[in-house]
Amino acid sequence: MSVSTVYDVVVIGGGLAGCSAAIAARRLGAKVLLVERLSFVGGAWTGGMVTHIAGLIDHERIYEKNDFVLDPKKWIVQGLACDYYDNLKKYGAANGIHWDHEAGKFIFDIILEHEGVDILYGTQFFEAKCSSGKIDSVGLIYRTTRIDVEAKIFIDASGDGDLGASAGCEFYFGRESDGRMSPATLSYMIGDINKSYLLSEEDYGVPIGGDSEVKIDAGKQAGKEDLNVILKKAREDGVIPRNMRPAAICMKYAEGRERNELWCSFVRQWGNITNPWEYSAMEKEGRKTGWEIFQYLKANTQSCKDAYLSGVGSQIWPRECRHFKTHYVMNADDFHKESRFDDVVGRCGFYLDLHSVTPGECGFDLDVRHSCRDKYFEIPFRALVPLYVNNLLLAGRTIGADHHGHSATRVMGTGIATGQAAGTAAGIFVKEKLDTPLQVDVSMMQGILRKNKVVI
Ligand SMILES: Cc1cc2nc3c(=O)[nH]c(=O)nc-3n(C[C@H](O)[C@H](O)[C@H](O)COP(=O)(O)OP(=O)(O)OC[C@H]3O[C@@H](n4cnc5c(N)ncnc54)[C@H](O)[C@@H]3O)c2cc1C
Repeated sequence: MSVSTVYDVVVIGGGLAGCSAAIAARRLGAKVLLVERLSFVGGAWTGGMVTHIAGLIDHERIYEKNDFVLDPKKWIVQGLACDYYDNLKKYGAANGIHWDHEAGKFIFDIILEHEGVDILYGTQFFEAKCSSGKIDSVGLIYRTTRIDVEAKIFIDASGDGDLGASAGCEFYFGRESDGRMSPATLSYMIGDINKSYLLSEEDYGVPIGGDSEVKIDAGKQAGKEDLNVILKKAREDGVIPRNMRPAAICMKYAEGRERNELWCSFVRQWGNITNPWEYSAMEKEGRKTGWEIFQYLKANTQSCKDAYLSGVGSQIWPRECRHFKTHYVMNADDFHKESRFDDVVGRCGFYLDLHSVTPGECGFDLDVRHSCRDKYFEIPFRALVPLYVNNLLLAGRTIGADHHGHSATRVMGTGIATGQAAGTAAGIFVKEKLDTPLQVDVSMMQGILRKNKVVI
């Protein structure tokens, strides 16, 4: 079957960037269609179980329990992030910047319906039809139904840049010199762990997270387990796969409730997710690795002896994919110099966090933190505007950034900011009947963003 329809704005990809773009455009009166290939929105947050919304605050503060974390009016990124937080908090599904990924699937349906955004779930974008440097329509597929949608302007919030690539934007994969990309990860949760055997935050004196290796005294350590240290040794001894990073984090987000659950971000797979064969191999290998590590933990630790697999991400999620050529390209210097721009439309509070592109190497090519607290750099509108295609904007992971700059801009808090900015620009584009986003009056756009609680 084949159908066609018309909208003002079409947003491809319902991650936090895409949701934000759709809502912002809708708030300016545009008729908006949000297209998501999964059965829920939220992208890597809900589908990849990534519950820490980075970039909203300075990363060095994430384990603090003060207003900088718990009061969104103190965050580096506000606007729609504050609205999302208020909604999630109402249902007990947010603790500062830690948002409940399962409740989010339900709550974002309520939010998007309230805002008046139309959504197609289970629907994949597959082609852009273009003429005279513009996208005329996009081809979508839901099972055996083909849907052609015309619109005045389109937003690529697909993370991997499917729309921009199909529309003819210039791009390269990963590192410009050789196309190597940061690894993708299949996350999963281990439930019913026995925490009495685990080292606690009190034992450490600091919150346990990631692959922290805080030294603690032997007395406190007696009979207790640090899973990340155990896994690191097993990896070095060759008894579990090398393509893993010891990164088990005790879940503790919704309203600060501690759960008997571990979020496991162990698996690392290097490859190009846009290639169907490579992607399938990454999924299969990722699950194999994840399963072996889980079995190892069950057989070799007291804390996981009776545990079970309580959830698995909807897919192996990539950190990096296509980089588009845009009117401004974010880079490492923007982080170092804390760049400020006249056409600022958003902020990034994250650091240079580049997971190694070398297969089997589970460290970081860059791990550069801010020298002091509450630092951020600005994102200019030009980074959202690709070259050559005249009615396309980018949001979230797809914005113009090189391999290094992207390691900071890729996170979800920044995605909310760039999504809100792209949607606002699209709303203006439609209202003012413009020919290219470069004609958007940026000071008018900044005014609208500020009215919608964005701090710039
Ligand atoms: C393991 C892991 C850990 C991470 N840790 C953190 C962290 O702690 N904090 C943080 O903030 N960030 C983290 N990140 C990065 C962050 O999750 C992503 O970069 C972020 O989700 C990007 O947001 P987005 O909205 O641009 O894209 P996504 O969240 O990737 O959303 C894109 C959406 O588009 C949809 N889509 C894609 N292609 C199509 C298509 N052709 N048709 C229709 N729909 C399509 C996808 O299904 C998806 O829902 C992590 C990433 C990974 C993989």
